[in-house]
Amino acid sequence: MHIVHVSAELAKVAKVGGLADMVYGLAKELVHLQADVEVILPKYACLDTSHLKKFHADKQKVLSKTGKNSVFENTIWSGILDGIKITFIEPHHPLLPFDREEIYGFADDVLRFSLFSRTVLDYLCQRGKKVDVLHVHDWQTALIPVLYTHLFKSKDFCVGKTVLTLHNLDYQGKYSKKEFPLEGLENSSCLEDAHQPDLVNLLQGGIIAADIVTTVSPNYKKEIQTPEGGCGLHLLLQEHSSKLHGILNGIDPHFWNPKEDPFLIYPYETSQVTSLKEIGKVLHAKEHNKRHLYSLLNLQFSDKPLVAAITRLVPQKGPDLLIHAIRRTLSQGGQFILLGSCPIPELKTVFEKLRLEFEKDPNVRVILEHDEPLAHLLFAAAELLIIPSIFEPCGLTQMIAMRYGTIPIARLSGGLADTVFDVETSTRPLADRNGFTFDYPDAAGVNWALDRALSYPKEQKDKWHSLLLHAMQKDFTWKNPAREYLKLYAL
Ligand code: ADP
Repeated sequence: MHIVHVSAELAKVAKVGGLADMVYGLAKELVHLQADVEVILPKYACLDTSHLKKFHADKQKVLSKTGKNSVFENTIWSGILDGIKITFIEPHHPLLPFDREEIYGFADDVLRFSLFSRTVLDYLCQRGKKVDVLHVHDWQTALIPVLYTHLFKSKDFCVGKTVLTLHNLDYQGKYSKKEFPLEGLENSSCLEDAHQPDLVNLLQGGIIAADIVTTVSPNYKKEIQTPEGGCGLHLLLQEHSSKLHGILNGIDPHFWNPKEDPFLIYPYETSQVTSLKEIGKVLHAKEHNKRHLYSLLNLQFSDKPLVAAITRLVPQKGPDLLIHAIRRTLSQGGQFILLGSCPIPELKTVFEKLRLEFEKDPNVRVILEHDEPLAHLLFAAAELLIIPSIFEPCGLTQMIAMRYGTIPIARLSGGLADTVFDVETSTRPLADRNGFTFDYPDAAGVNWALDRALSYPKEQKDKWHSLLLHAMQKDFTWKNPAREYLKLYAL
């Protein structure tokens, strides 16, 4: 079975968030299951090629079409990333769509990725190899099922099945219809935004045109079919519910492995820990990593519980609640480290102020960067990780945290509700309970979960150790999800 993933992100080479981790983790596990997998990405100028093997450009250029008579050349690059075959497309187009410093954040993002989507199909069509599954992700590549259905299916090019995964419905790829190159798609009404007919909506088109639509957690599949969670697409999703499937993301157990993590000063085993007697070793290792982290950040070591947040600082992630959580943690005698990337200038200003406010505080650090090594060390050093998301399609940080023996405090939303079960209030068996949760995304909700969580490491030691054991034993690898995807591909 030849499976082609088309994505805007891939961990290790071009990452902004969880999309990158998902495509990497799923593709790697599918390779492990002997599937013939390929990932196609834009060739960004900011690509990290250091992990790629056999990275090279093909001699032959591929031609692609944008406007009526406008044809442009593309260089096709290939490489191998941890056993996964990767194809990169470099369009020589006047827009210079990927010759930029960042992956996203430009006024013409919708045009850039539409161009890429078109080129992917031109490339696959010219290459001629049969594609059994064409799996696209989010709005950036959602145009592909639309283009395939309306333009390419009639050509001599056959795709067995198109699959669209919804990682985040909040981003839909909307653009002025007048300025969008619709050549060949003029009669495909699926792209016309249901609420604003003067706009195209790429995600909406993809949902209608794809054979299968998946969400990144079972609970998110339910939420997006409600007016509160559907971001305007709930009626469409209800209409297409028979092709909608919710599969929980996994995490890559090699990349996120405290035993072999190159960014930790003191690696440690968690997945093989089976008894409470072994918890001491984990706590010992975590303390060493915490001491190292504190020396890097110029913080004085203390045995106060450390709460971490590792996140993009965008409205979805509850930025006000994060700020509240910092202050509450301090008032309850804990410490806090926020590692947050700031793609939105207004929020950056708010958090920059916060960073300065706490610059000299011995119990807080606010670090406004995307820093992979620091994220790993922080996962290992912290006792708790807070995720007060307003909505969270899947969420990876709660799973990563548990793998590092760090207990999540999570708002019950999307995939967080599928993976974090409150130690006191959950109705699940004791062995499944692995964190602290709250329902309402407000200050009282945060206080309720955070206060209890902060009291556990010292005041409820036995329960704390059991909690750690349950969290570390949970299997969040790609083993089961990849099998579920294979079953869907074979439907
Ligand atoms: P999203 O995809 O919405 O950003 P997820 O929880 O699904 O959220 O995935 C976030 C991923 O990005 C995790 O691997 C997390 O460790 C990483 N990450 C988020 N913010 C940062 C940061 N500031 N520095 C380093 N890694 C980060």
